[in-house]
Amino acid sequence: MTNKAIDQVAIDWPCADGQLLLGGRTLDAVAAELGSDAFYAYDRGRMEARVAALRRALPPCIGLHYAVKANPLPELVTFMASLVDGLDVASRREMQLALNSGMRAASVSYAGPGKGMQDLRDAVAAGILINVESPREIERLAQIAAETGQTARIAVRVNPAFELRGAGMRMGGGAKPFGIDEEALPALLPTLQRPGLRFEGFHLYCGSQSLNASAIAESLQQGYALALRLAAWAPAPVLSLNLGGGLGIPYFPGERPLDLAPIAAALDKIATDAAMQMPQARLHLELGRYLVGEAGIYATRIVDRKVSRGETFLITAGGMNHHLAASGNLGQVIRKNYPVVIGNRLEGSELERVHIHGPLCTPLDVLAQGVVLPRAEPGDWVVVFQSGAYGYSASPHGFLSQPLPSEILT
Ligand SMILES: *Cc1c(COP(=O)(O)O)cnc(C)c1O
Repeated sequence: MTNKAIDQVAIDWPCADGQLLLGGRTLDAVAAELGSDAFYAYDRGRMEARVAALRRALPPCIGLHYAVKANPLPELVTFMASLVDGLDVASRREMQLALNSGMRAASVSYAGPGKGMQDLRDAVAAGILINVESPREIERLAQIAAETGQTARIAVRVNPAFELRGAGMRMGGGAKPFGIDEEALPALLPTLQRPGLRFEGFHLYCGSQSLNASAIAESLQQGYALALRLAAWAPAPVLSLNLGGGLGIPYFPGERPLDLAPIAAALDKIATDAAMQMPQARLHLELGRYLVGEAGIYATRIVDRKVSRGETFLITAGGMNHHLAASGNLGQVIRKNYPVVIGNRLEGSELERVHIHGPLCTPLDVLAQGVVLPRAEPGDWVVVFQSGAYGYSASPHGFLSQPLPSEILT
């Protein structure tokens, strides 16, 4: 199916007889199995195809890591672990998920400000790579290593002086809570030569959700050049260089899928240069949303349909409590609609303009505003596309004490 609704991002998804299909089954069939009026479904084939396409486009020596934060459903993490070269985690529970996924501990890395003592102890004991984010974290790791006789594998997360232009969320450049400022590193790096610490490389992560391929290419090149400069101060050769990512997916009208060509060209140059200048370094990207975001949908049943002063409202079983991002309350400045359809009436010919609202008693609980869709009734399904990342786990399930959505891998 190509969703022809005007003003929406084009989405290709299987369908038959006007019904969206999930692993060959209708929404009603999946809902009956789950016993749920609201669920997320993630498609293995789409994730597999995305990873394969990315590998075809990029130089073969560039490793791909999955950032578990994007979607931590255990079965999905296990599936992704079978496709990628490493997993990046940002909490102790994500680390446990990664370690249970079948990925070898040596290929798991742990970033994030505010790692506590127990987080660090468990990470050292597991033998994963810790992306250190502050001088204090380094001291704590040295202390843990001294106490336990273990070695802490560390990479330094660098807060570069440059920013990722056009990113949805910026996580590098200027004053940031993430990483250590590049200016501080010439003095700090030589001090990492001490018992119990093993320096392995650098982690650069500038931002998220960018659809500007040339800006991403530029930040990858700037990041590589910075790592190369910093390597001169490092106490050991760089074994691991995490170049970040930030590759975005289209959500809103007018947005187009990312053109990988400029990114591939930049990585080609980087890989060629690194083969000479940092021969021991494994290079990789860490990606969340780009790998899983387009593989997932959120479906919720329509509970009511009402008209208020000439405007039609469809009220759904779940809303912002299940899908905060689609409601526009997860970092959007101006609210825009995610791509939505009536999943069991894709080909309905009677179109109408509606607002889709969740069940919560707050005007924030919006799934779509002013969308033109086939006429729908209670019992029908609203489907929100581009929902495989930052959906379930990024939503305030406790708000208004409504039932949780289900999740299924198809
Ligand atoms: C959030 C995050 C990611 C994943 O970002 P996506 O936009 O999902 O690709 C990767 N690395 C770090 C350090 C992050 O904080």
